[in-house]
Amino acid sequence: MQILKTISDARALLKSWRDDGNSIALAPTMGYYHKGHEKLMRTAAELADKTVVSLFVNPTQFAPNEDFAAYPRDLERDAKIAEACGVDLLFAPEPGEIYATDHQTWVEVPEMSQGLCGASRPAHFRGVCTIVLKLFMITRPNIAVFGEKDWQQQAVIKRMVKDLNLPVKIVTAPTQREADGLALSSRNAYLDEIERSQAPHFYRGMLAALKRFQQGERDVNLLKQEALAYWSKNLPDGRLDYISIVDPDTLEQLSRLENKALLACAIRLGKTRLIDNILLEIK
Ligand code: AMP
Repeated sequence: MQILKTISDARALLKSWRDDGNSIALAPTMGYYHKGHEKLMRTAAELADKTVVSLFVNPTQFAPNEDFAAYPRDLERDAKIAEACGVDLLFAPEPGEIYATDHQTWVEVPEMSQGLCGASRPAHFRGVCTIVLKLFMITRPNIAVFGEKDWQQQAVIKRMVKDLNLPVKIVTAPTQREADGLALSSRNAYLDEIERSQAPHFYRGMLAALKRFQQGERDVNLLKQEALAYWSKNLPDGRLDYISIVDPDTLEQLSRLENKALLACAIRLGKTRLIDNILLEIK
């Protein structure tokens, strides 16, 4: 596995791979790898001849009051994990390599970026779309892999790809969880012991709503109520950011449920913001 830090070095290597007829899969990440990232890397490695992982804590997707400075970083550890997952190139640029001081061009998917996480993180998806498009232009992948844990992100990226006719296929990988159900996240490292012991109840509340859905309940408010009631009993320190039931593709709020919807939620537990989602569907 090669580790490269400059755009020109990455471009030169990728060009040589493409010239030799290799297909390329990209998995964009912010590092501090866990089994969710590993799943993305292994999926990418299965789908293309060469696997590129970008490791970049993207400053433009963090608001000034968010955790950009505190975000966990460990390149040496991450490089070992990436190599073991079959990654061929770890592209790990410094912020100055990606954003010039006079940067002023942004990519936005405004409507799909407004609700859910966008409501409390207004510039977040603008930062995400801009870095992802830059990474696409630098690496020119045939395939890019995103995690379903960040459902809104992959939906917004799919729309950007469609709207801008980008020649890349977006593939998603299912959410990887701890044995107790907590979705893996680099931010789980912020949880203290008490918060960590409560955190699995976040997903369990969503499973309670899924169960009601599978029993036939289609009233959006009653389904939300099911999760909220579970959390108020089992997750006393959780502060709700949002609970929404939306169309999985367009992210529009649904008032009437039919056979498929997405329950997406965010809570704050201490200083940590946790997000998760679950498809409400009949299997
Ligand atoms: P991050 O490094 O947190 O920006 O995440 C990089 C990629 O990994 C994104 O596409 C995420 O959706 C994906 N990802 C993060 N956590 C998980 C998880 N628990 N399961 C599957 N994919 C994940």
